[in-house]
Amino acid sequence: MTQTPLPDLYAAEPIPAAAMAEVTRILTTGDLFRYTAQTSPVALLEAEFAALLGSKYALAVSSCSAALFLTLKSLDLPRGARVLIPAFTFAAVPSAVVHADMVPVLCDCGDDYRIDMADFAAKLPSVDAVLISHMRGHTSDMDAIMAACDAAGLPVIEDAAHSLGTTWAGRNIGTIGRAGCFSFQSYKLLNAGEGGIMVSDDADLIARAVIMSGAYEHNWAKHPVLHSAFARWQNRLPLYNLRMNTLSAAIIRPQLPELARRVANGRRNHDHVAARLAASPHVHVPAPLPGELRAPDSIQFNLPGLTDHQITAFVAGAEAMGLKVQVFGTTRDNARAFWNWGFLGEAPTLPRTRAMLMRACDLRLPARLSLADCDVIADALLDALHTATEDNRAYGT
Ligand SMILES: *Cc1c(COP(=O)(O)O)cnc(C)c1O
Repeated sequence: MTQTPLPDLYAAEPIPAAAMAEVTRILTTGDLFRYTAQTSPVALLEAEFAALLGSKYALAVSSCSAALFLTLKSLDLPRGARVLIPAFTFAAVPSAVVHADMVPVLCDCGDDYRIDMADFAAKLPSVDAVLISHMRGHTSDMDAIMAACDAAGLPVIEDAAHSLGTTWAGRNIGTIGRAGCFSFQSYKLLNAGEGGIMVSDDADLIARAVIMSGAYEHNWAKHPVLHSAFARWQNRLPLYNLRMNTLSAAIIRPQLPELARRVANGRRNHDHVAARLAASPHVHVPAPLPGELRAPDSIQFNLPGLTDHQITAFVAGAEAMGLKVQVFGTTRDNARAFWNWGFLGEAPTLPRTRAMLMRACDLRLPARLSLADCDVIADALLDALHTATEDNRAYGT
């Protein structure tokens, strides 16, 4: 029997050919530094990205981690300020908080991958700021979070690193809080290898971030932000030099028109595989919250009834067929398991997040896959699941 081979889930989409002419121009002129020319590709990217999201300002930097760090620094909070973050996030997020001389306060997350609102309410009075990671586009209840934070006078930052294109009640994720941060690392929706960008409507916050990103002397004059905001901060802030170079912007800009297609195809692929998996009694795909429209390039699902042994057998069976499923809590040294963030000291007790991480499966599902590819993947997953659960019955454990 000939079977369609499993696609490579880690291969990238080619960069649009339009990037080539601009990259060649940049290499020919050697114009790699964003502040050399009056208008650099980085400034154009910032203008285009801000317009795309409906934000007033954008600042492109070297990574989303850098954007998160600069945003935290730009809040002008005292050293040691406490920042609430979800316990289910990527290690770069607590790292950015520590880098900014602040203290992360981990909030429990539910088996739907989102902030547990009871733990959120309990911890809110003890923090100075809130940083929400929309992990894999799963959006926590932003209406409830914004209402609580507005009432308490707390700033909200959105880590939308892997959530570009997701909307909440029609608004782009990343534009709901004081500032939002996105990644251009290769596994995200726009691929520059490395890179990040922050958006905000707050001129003063952006002015501070622009200066700290490395707009030394009067390079800030090349940013379309109120110059009075810059004048306030001139020479008063450290320069961390986290700028984006022009080549990265030249690689990202031609991908912006591709975004709508990637979002639509990613959603189609996700929903197709989710519907196929839902046919299995072992699989639970958490429903989106009302108001959330994701732009997924991966799928997450829970295996609530399976034993540890069966989960291990499922992952091994899928891997034998060429599919790398990660169970966040069981893959060795996983950067999304909070107990591996040893740099924070002893791990807090977060029972709901821990239980979810031990049962939640994650698989990349890039937008470039066809529905036929998705069927091959769903067949393989269901096959591995069947074998893992049947085996167990045979041995009567
Ligand atoms: C990728 C990612 C980051 C870090 O982005 P970098 O650009 O690699 O620094 C942060 N948060 C989340 C949720 C991510 O997925």
